[in-house]
Amino acid sequence: MTMKREDGLMASDNTDWPMLIGGRQTAALSGKTIDVINPATGNAFCTVPAADADDVDAAVAAAQKGFAVWGKMSPLERATILNKAADLLQARMPEFVAAEVRQTGRPVREMRAQLARTPEWYSYFAAVARTYESKVHPFGGAHINYGRRLPLGVVALVTPWNHPLLILTKKLAPALAAGNAVVVKPSEVAPVTPIMLGEVLAEAGLPDGVYNVVTGLGATAGAALTNHPGIAKIDLTGGTETGRHVAAIAGKRLIPFAGELGGKASVVVFEDVDIEQAAAATLFASFVAAGQTCVQGARLLVHESIHDAVLARLTERTNALRVGAPTDEATQMGPVISTQQLATVEKYVAIGKDEGARLVTGGERLGDAEREGGYFYAPTIFADVTNDMRIAQEEIFGPVVCVMKFKDEAEAVSLANGTAFGLAASVWSPNIAKAKRVAEGIEAGIVWINDHHRIDPSSPWGGFKDSGLGKENGIVCYEGYTRMQSIVVNTAEEPFDWFADDGKQKRYS
Ligand code: NAD
Repeated sequence: MTMKREDGLMASDNTDWPMLIGGRQTAALSGKTIDVINPATGNAFCTVPAADADDVDAAVAAAQKGFAVWGKMSPLERATILNKAADLLQARMPEFVAAEVRQTGRPVREMRAQLARTPEWYSYFAAVARTYESKVHPFGGAHINYGRRLPLGVVALVTPWNHPLLILTKKLAPALAAGNAVVVKPSEVAPVTPIMLGEVLAEAGLPDGVYNVVTGLGATAGAALTNHPGIAKIDLTGGTETGRHVAAIAGKRLIPFAGELGGKASVVVFEDVDIEQAAAATLFASFVAAGQTCVQGARLLVHESIHDAVLARLTERTNALRVGAPTDEATQMGPVISTQQLATVEKYVAIGKDEGARLVTGGERLGDAEREGGYFYAPTIFADVTNDMRIAQEEIFGPVVCVMKFKDEAEAVSLANGTAFGLAASVWSPNIAKAKRVAEGIEAGIVWINDHHRIDPSSPWGGFKDSGLGKENGIVCYEGYTRMQSIVVNTAEEPFDWFADDGKQKRYS
C-alpha cells in the first residue's frame, strides 16, 4: 500500500529510520521497508526496515559478540554507563516526546508526563546492579554455599505500540544492568523511539552489539527472533494470544519467558467516595491513552447508591474531553492507533448494543474537518452492563468503558474477579480498612487504593491469570534476567573417602 507522505515534517525528522545491528545503522537485507503512520493524520511519516530471518540472525550474532564484552564488565562499569544513559535521555527528552506523539497519536501532555519518568529506570537498575548482594545459604557442616547471579546471554525483548519507550525501558534497564545483551523487536506500528534510544545508549558508552533493534512484522521478524536458538530468554509485552504462542516456543526450548499481556481492569468505587472524586478517578482510568492501556479501567463497578450520580457526572466530564490533534497542548485525548484498532472499537460498540447495554455517550467515529484522516473515536460509556456480556469480558483496547452496579463488598469482589484477566484493579474508598480488605480479595497482580495506573521502577508489575507471567520492575525483575549458580565449597581438613573401609559413619547428601 502506498501511503500519502505527511506534510509538515521538520528538516530534522528522519524519514527513513534504519535498524540497529552491532552498532551499525542498517537496512533490511531484502531492502524491504514498512511505512509508519501518524494515527492523527492517517499519513505515513517514515519507513523502517522490514526485517526477516536473515536480519535476525545477524542481530543475534552481533548481540552474542556484545554479550562477550558486556557480560564480563563489572557492576560498577555497567552502572556508570546506565547512569549516563539516564542523563542523556533526560537531555533529549523533547525529541523523544515529539517522536512518541507522532507515532502513537497520544497527546503531548500525556507523553511528556510518561517519558519524564523513563530515565529513572536506568538509574534505579544501575543502583540495583551496584548494590545487589549474593546470598550465602545455610548448607551446614564444613560446606560454604554461595549463590552467584549470572547474566543469561542474549535476550529477546518484544514490545507493543501503546507505550513504546516506557515498556521497552522497563525490560531493557534490568536486562542490561544484569549484564545481558538484547535484541529488541519493537511494534511495527511504533518503532521509532526504540531505534532513537540506540543513539543515547551508544553515546553513554554501551559497547557495540549490546543493544540491537530489528524492526518488522510480528509474524516475520518477531517469529524469527523468538524461535532463534541463540536467544536465552524472551520477554514480551502484547496481547494474551501472542503471549501464549510465544510462551509455547520458549517452553519447548526450556528458556525463561516473561509476558506482560492483556487486561480488563476493574475500578471499584464505594458509596463513601465523593462524587466529584469518583468522576475524576473513573475518567482518568477510562480514557487516558484513549483507553489503550493494559490497565485501562474498562470495568467501572460503582456502588448502587451512588451509581446514577457518578454516571451522570462522569458522562458530563467525558463529553467535555477535548479530543483532537495530539500535538496541541490543550488536547486531552488523541486518536486510536490504527484503522485496525478503530475497526475493533466499532465492532465492540456494535456488540455492546446488540447485547442490550445502554450506550450513554460516544459510540461513533469522529471525523470533522480538524480531525480528518485521523483515527479518532468518541469516548464511549456503556451502562446497564452485565458481567456476562462480551464488552465486559473481552479486551477492547480503546476508549470504551462499561459501568456496572454492586450492592455490597462481597459482590464488588466477586465482580472484580469475574474475568479471565488479572493484571490490575483499583479500589476507591476513604475507609482504608475496607479498601485494603477488598484489594486483598482481588485476583490481580497490581491493585491501587485511591489511585489508578501508578508505576515506579521499584514496584513489581505483572499480571495474574490470563494477564501474564513474570514481573517487571523491582529486584524481582532484575533476578529474572539472571540465572543462579550455587557454588558449594568443602572446607573440611579431613579427607573424604566414601569407599574406605574405616568403619566411620559417612554422609553424601
Ligand atoms: P501484539 O500482541 O499484537 O504485539 C506485541 C508485539 O509482539 C509486537 O512487537 C508484535 O509485532 C509482536 N508479535 C506479534 N505476533 C508475534 C509472533 N507470532 N511472534 C513474535 N512476535 C509477535 O500487541 P499490541 O497490539 O502491540 O499491544 C497491545 C496489547 O499489549 C494489549 O493486549 C495490551 O493489553 C498489551 N499490553 C500489556 C501490558 C502489560 O503490562 N501487561 C502493557 C502494554 C500493553
